[in-house]
Amino acid sequence: MKPEIAVTICQEPSGQLCRGTEAIGSSPYNVQLRIGCPPGTVVKALHHSHPGGLAKPSPADILEAKRLGLNHLCIENDFELRCYKV
Ligand SMILES: [Zn+2]
Repeated sequence: MKPEIAVTICQEPSGQLCRGTEAIGSSPYNVQLRIGCPPGTVVKALHHSHPGGLAKPSPADILEAKRLGLNHLCIENDFELRCYKV
């Protein structure tokens, strides 16, 4: 099974989105991401995968997104990518 992945999505002052830090977990269920954006950009969202699972945020995902002050959470499974407003 594919490992879980996570990517920080950041926004430049122009509004353009860009990638921040990325992490690949050692298993389908466990990834640790240090949220980080390039200088001059701000964190907007977090994308991560649920290999073999649902493209829906878990209660823990939502709590973490709120704690980090994120606007959106994007979850991908083996079939689709969905983004949710937090
Ligand atoms: Zn999750």
